[in-house]
Amino acid sequence: MLEELKEQVYKANMELPKRKLITYTWGNVSGIDRETGYFVIKPSGVDYDELKPEDMVVMDLEGNKIEGKYKPSSDTPTHLELYKAFPEIGGVVHTHSPWATSWAQAGRSIPCYGTTHADYFYGDIPCARSLTKDEIEEAYEKNTGLVIIETFKKLNPNYVPGVLCVNHGPFTWGKDAMEAVHNAVVLEEVAKMAYQTESINHHAQHAPDMIKEKHFMRKHGKNAYYGQ
Ligand SMILES: [Zn+2]
Repeated sequence: MLEELKEQVYKANMELPKRKLITYTWGNVSGIDRETGYFVIKPSGVDYDELKPEDMVVMDLEGNKIEGKYKPSSDTPTHLELYKAFPEIGGVVHTHSPWATSWAQAGRSIPCYGTTHADYFYGDIPCARSLTKDEIEEAYEKNTGLVIIETFKKLNPNYVPGVLCVNHGPFTWGKDAMEAVHNAVVLEEVAKMAYQTESINHHAQHAPDMIKEKHFMRKHGKNAYYGQ
């Protein structure tokens, strides 16, 4: 079932070690088939060297396992909440990539300092609030998803395809699993550059709104003209 999607999600997962976004098995990618409402996700704790497309786990949006011999990634309930809340996304990624995670651990949103950021993220990349003790004890991974959704109450997830979970790390998303990985790679680069920007100049200012507007909209707006 969903063999093509499994292959896509497998390839997207294999990009994480290739792009140096993860150490050991600290990351996961999923992709959804909106027609059936089933999504495919990496199994929990299987080494990347041993991972195969057929090992991907098929889940429904109620959290039932539909197919697969392994347990799904422990972050599955977070992915599930994001798919339910953001109907236009088709893929989700979670990593502990070091630069983005450093901002998450510092509890800071990543300011938009330039066009590399503005090409992909319309404005700052937000850092979500901490979970309460009850939220952690009750359903940690599901509530991680709900806190991300709360962070996006006034933000468009299609314009800001990523978030930092405080004291934890980044989640990104996109139209499919590969685009979500692409956004995870960009987020990591942007996190590194923002840190360096502040190291060079403690008083660095946000890029002007005009730059933010121009760079994001030429790639993603209604009248996008970037690329072929
Ligand atoms: Zn994590």
